[in-house]
Amino acid sequence: MLMAEAGATRKYDPEFTKEVYKMENGHWVKMCMQCGICPTTCTLRGQMDLSPRRIIQLIRSGAKDEVLKSNTMWLCTSCYTCACRCPRGVPMMDVMHDLRRLAEEAGYVNNSSHMSKVYYGDVAKRGRVWEGGLTIKYGLKLGIFNAMKLGLEMQDVVMQMMKHKRLPIFPPPSVKNPANLRKMLDKAAALAKEEG
Ligand code: SF4
Ligand code: SF4
Repeated sequence: MLMAEAGATRKYDPEFTKEVYKMENGHWVKMCMQCGICPTTCTLRGQMDLSPRRIIQLIRSGAKDEVLKSNTMWLCTSCYTCACRCPRGVPMMDVMHDLRRLAEEAGYVNNSSHMSKVYYGDVAKRGRVWEGGLTIKYGLKLGIFNAMKLGLEMQDVVMQMMKHKRLPIFPPPSVKNPANLRKMLDKAAALAKEEG
């Protein structure tokens, strides 16, 4: 019954597998031997919809929707820990970068992708995070109802952040030369575009 239900809801698309293989780091997906070391290493595993190992397994199966709608690639911090321990040397963080791009191009969004973009926008602007502004922008992305629901769920965290002055009303000063930061980010974006 459960198998039949799962089969009925999951769609397999072999073209998706080929599409990932063609990406800059897609060939690494073929190298994985499904040993399971990466999920036991990853400190974010508890928050991820799918473990890094499972993501690779589902890419090979062509489960496009399941892969691209997950929050896994948006939560990866590129810490390199799993890559250091992987017996095949798979640079999981690079595979995750490719998946982010695919998800974005295909129009998949979730709370984690919203947070990732809001965070990047904030850091790109002044080189520092403004937690107060970030919280408001993230709330606007989620919509007022979802933002209030999340705020209630996380009220302990919110209270602690306020207590420790981690939700300032005014933005922090920018880094010394934000124009240089902008140039660096523009250059990185141009290189990424060149590499396709
Ligand atoms: S540690 Fe490497 S080989 Fe093992 S499951 Fe993760 S990516 Fe695959
Ligand atoms: S690089 Fe990403 S997937 Fe790997 S351990 Fe770090 S956060 Fe987890």
